[in-house]
Amino acid sequence: MSPSATDDISALQAALGIPAGYAASRGLTAQSPPPFWIEAGLDRGGRPIWLEHEASCAFLRLTQSAARDGITIIVVSAYRSYLHQARLIQRQLERGVPLEVILARIAPPGYSEHHTGRALDLSSAEETEPLTESFEKTLLFDWLSQCASPFGFRLSYPRGNPQGFIYEPWHWAYA
Ligand SMILES: [Zn+2]
Repeated sequence: MSPSATDDISALQAALGIPAGYAASRGLTAQSPPPFWIEAGLDRGGRPIWLEHEASCAFLRLTQSAARDGITIIVVSAYRSYLHQARLIQRQLERGVPLEVILARIAPPGYSEHHTGRALDLSSAEETEPLTESFEKTLLFDWLSQCASPFGFRLSYPRGNPQGFIYEPWHWAYA
């Protein structure tokens, strides 16, 4: 990570009231952006999504295989910049959500797997409320649990994960 990126992260964290050393105290790993991104389709709102090159190829193979089984994958979120991450946290703070509650759901800027362009938040057409535990009850979740691993994708935050994040059945990353 370049010194400027580190400064960037420190400044963004300070602006959100995240204490220096917070990520280290929780054992979170710093996550860096890829050298370049590939546009890899559209999210559920019709906006382009971006992935790191290898992850993008693997995700294409994953979606094609799912389609052959009659399963459609909807992307809620893929690559996110440090600033985008900070804005997500800021929005929750403005709604009055306590910082520690937010940080169990959203990693501090600089520590989200979404920065790497290798993580995706997924949803399914049958879901009424994406990014909730209800995703676990979808056909897509069943399919991913059985079929995602040979494509290189894994569930990052199962129940009781050591990073202290809530259970996120919707968040899959290319390792
Ligand atoms: Zn995610």
